[in-house]
Amino acid sequence: MPLIKCENVSIGYEGQTVVKDLNFAIEKGDYLCIVGENGSGKSTLVKSLLGLKSVEKGRITFGDGLRQNEIGYLPQQNDTQKDFPASVYEVVLSGRLNSRGFHPFYTSGDKREAVEKMELLGIRDLERQCFRDLSGGQKQRVLLARALCATKSLLLLDEPVTGLDPIVTGEFYQLIRRINRDSGIAVVMVSHDIESAVEDATHILHLQETALFFGTTEDYRRSRIGRKFLGGVHDGNDF
Ligand code: ADP
Repeated sequence: MPLIKCENVSIGYEGQTVVKDLNFAIEKGDYLCIVGENGSGKSTLVKSLLGLKSVEKGRITFGDGLRQNEIGYLPQQNDTQKDFPASVYEVVLSGRLNSRGFHPFYTSGDKREAVEKMELLGIRDLERQCFRDLSGGQKQRVLLARALCATKSLLLLDEPVTGLDPIVTGEFYQLIRRINRDSGIAVVMVSHDIESAVEDATHILHLQETALFFGTTEDYRRSRIGRKFLGGVHDGNDF
């Protein structure tokens, strides 16, 4: 049973279908990058994976013990730049709420988990700082720690490096690679940055309403569509 399986999935807004007949599946420990132009349906798909938007047709199923409310989600950066009057520790700890809905008290296990994740991501020294005072890169680390508190098997990241400078972006990608490699947590990342996507991901879903390509990164590099978008070597028969 795959970790996520999308079968003939169509999703739309008020009668207009924006994702059509989509099929793909990922397994435990995979690293999937979802690429595609603006408006190709990436964020819509993310909403349905999170259970925030129902599908019109087809179905999305989860395996390997994963429940939809146990996905570690890191939203688009624009959504998280608000003046958020909470400490780093509180933000990270709030990831524990995801898996069981609202709960006014945190357990000692929740607190241990939050400290562990802050240590893992090298942000323990920031724990008492106010989230809104942090740099963009620090905020993303905090939100990543929060997402890790919410899951044991899947991180879902929507354009996580938007607005970050190249060095911080590189460090963020490195962190995601390390988490994926060391903990076996699967990663699904929506990305504009197709060049970096093929460096890190094991699988690529190239979305344009439906899957223009889904498969391993290696096959994507060799495919017609992959070579076109990567601006790679042409063999004279293409396009
Ligand atoms: P991407 O994330 O790839 O940029 P989106 O999933 O945001 O693409 O958008 C896919 C299509 O759905 C676009 O044509 C967009 O205009 C439309 N769309 C997105 N959100 C809504 C909404 N809330 N209501 C109506 N149409 C929407």
